[in-house]
Amino acid sequence: MTSKQPQPATSHHVVIVGAGFGGLETTHRLKGAPVRITLLDRRNHHLFQPLLYQVATASLATSEIAWPIRYLLRDRPEVTTLFAAVSGVDPVGKRVLLDDGDSVAYDTLVLATGARHAYFGHDEWEPFAPGLKTLEDATTLRRRILVAFERAERETDPLRRAALMTFVIIGAGPTGVELAGTIAELAKDTLPPDFRNIDTHSARVVLIEAGPRVLAGFPDDLSAYAQRSLESIGVEVVLGQAVTECSTDGVVYGGKTLQARTLIWAAGVRASSAAEWLGAPADRAFRLQVNPDLTVPGHSEIFAIGDTVTINGPDGKPIPGIAPAAKQQGRYVAETIKARLRGETLGPFRYKHAGSLAQIGKRKAVIDFGRFKLRGAIAWWIWGIAHIYFLIGLRHRLSVAISWLWIHARDQRAARLITQGSSKVGR
Ligand SMILES: Cc1cc2nc3c(=O)[nH]c(=O)nc-3n(C[C@H](O)[C@H](O)[C@H](O)COP(=O)(O)OP(=O)(O)OC[C@H]3O[C@@H](n4cnc5c(N)ncnc54)[C@H](O)[C@@H]3O)c2cc1C
Repeated sequence: MTSKQPQPATSHHVVIVGAGFGGLETTHRLKGAPVRITLLDRRNHHLFQPLLYQVATASLATSEIAWPIRYLLRDRPEVTTLFAAVSGVDPVGKRVLLDDGDSVAYDTLVLATGARHAYFGHDEWEPFAPGLKTLEDATTLRRRILVAFERAERETDPLRRAALMTFVIIGAGPTGVELAGTIAELAKDTLPPDFRNIDTHSARVVLIEAGPRVLAGFPDDLSAYAQRSLESIGVEVVLGQAVTECSTDGVVYGGKTLQARTLIWAAGVRASSAAEWLGAPADRAFRLQVNPDLTVPGHSEIFAIGDTVTINGPDGKPIPGIAPAAKQQGRYVAETIKARLRGETLGPFRYKHAGSLAQIGKRKAVIDFGRFKLRGAIAWWIWGIAHIYFLIGLRHRLSVAISWLWIHARDQRAARLITQGSSKVGR
C-alpha cells in the first residue's frame, strides 16, 4: 500500500487534461520529476480505442479495454486524479476552467483532449449513424447490431426484414474496414445456429467510401488486398460515392436509397475544443496548430498534444492521428518540462512513424512498415500480438488473448449482451 506523502505547496504544478494515450504517457514520463501533477479527465477510465470496434461487435467486453485512471496511478503519490470536464482555459490567470464553475491553477498545462467523429456539417445524421469513440458509443452500436437481428427474427414482412439485416458502414478507413469485416463474420460465423426464423448468412454488410479505395492511408497493393478480403467474406464495398442523407430508413448515396436500419459512421474527425478555448490557430478539423516544440502559439507554458493538434512530420505531411504519435508527443512534452526545470531547452519534436496496421477479419490483416509490407495470416498474428502487448496489465492481456483464441477456435463471441437503452431498432 502506498503511503500518502504531502507535496511541497511550492513545487511546480503540471496540469494535464485528458488521460488518453498522450496525457497518460506525459504523466508516466514525468515520474521522478520535481513536480506535482493533476490529471483531469471527464471519464474515469483510460480507453484503448484501437479495440473499441471489438466491443461494438460483441467480441470483447468493455472491461477488457478500459482501466480506471485512478487505479493506473495508485502508486504515484504526486499525481492527483480528478474526474472533471474542462470547459475552458484562462491563460492570463493560469487556470483551467471546469464545466461546474470550479477551476484549477497550473504552472504548466498540457492539453491532450483528443478528437471525436465529425459529420461534415451534418450533425443531424448522428442519431441515425452513430460513430465510435467512447465505451458508450461501442455499447450503443453493439445494442443496435444485436437488436436488429433480434427484430429480424420476428419480422414477417420481407422488405422490413431485409432492412433490418442490412448494416451500412460509412467510411473505409481502418475503423470502417475493421467494423465491416467483423460484422460480416458475426453474421456468417457466429450467429447462424442461434436463430430459427432468419438465415443470418443473408445479412448484407455494405461499406461506403467517398474516396477511390479502402484504407486510403495504406499503399495501393495493401488497400486492394483489403478490399478483396472484405469481398471474400461477403462485404459489399462501394467506392467513390459520398453519402448525402442518413435517416431512420437508411442511407442515400449516388442518388440511390439503401434501406437499412443500422448505420455506423466511421468517416470524419473533429478535434476537441482546445484551440477554441485558447483562441489558437486551427485547421479545418479544428486541430490546434502547435509550435515545433508542441507549445501553443503565444503561450510557452501550455502544450497541446495528440489528436487535438496538427503538426507536420519529417515528410512534410501532417502527423497521423494515431496512438503512437500521441504517445511520442506525450513523452517529448514530459522531457521538455523536465529540461526546463533544469534550465535547459530541447530541440523540436520529431515524429518517428513505426508502421500502420489494420485488421480485416479472422486471419487477415495488413501491415505497412514502410520498407516492407505484410498481409494475410502473418500480418494478423503480428497485429494481434502488438495489440495484446500494448494493453495494460497481465490480466487484460490474458483475458483478451483468451477471448480471441475462443473466437478463433469456436467462432463464439461471448460479449453478445444487449444492455441499457431501448430495445427498438436504431435507438
Ligand atoms: C475507433 C477507433 C479506432 C482506432 N484505432 C487505432 C489503431 O488501430 N491504431 C492507432 O494507433 N490508433 C487508433 N486510433 C486513434 C487513437 O486512438 C488516437 O490517435 C489516440 O487515442 C489519441 O490520443 P490522445 O491522447 O490525443 O486522445 P484520446 O486517447 O482520445 O484521449 C483524450 C482524453 O481526453 C479526455 N477529454 C476530452 N475532452 C475533455 C474535456 N473537455 N475535459 C476533460 N477530459 C476530456 C477524454 O475523455 C479522453 O480520455 C483509433 C481511434 C478510434 C476512435
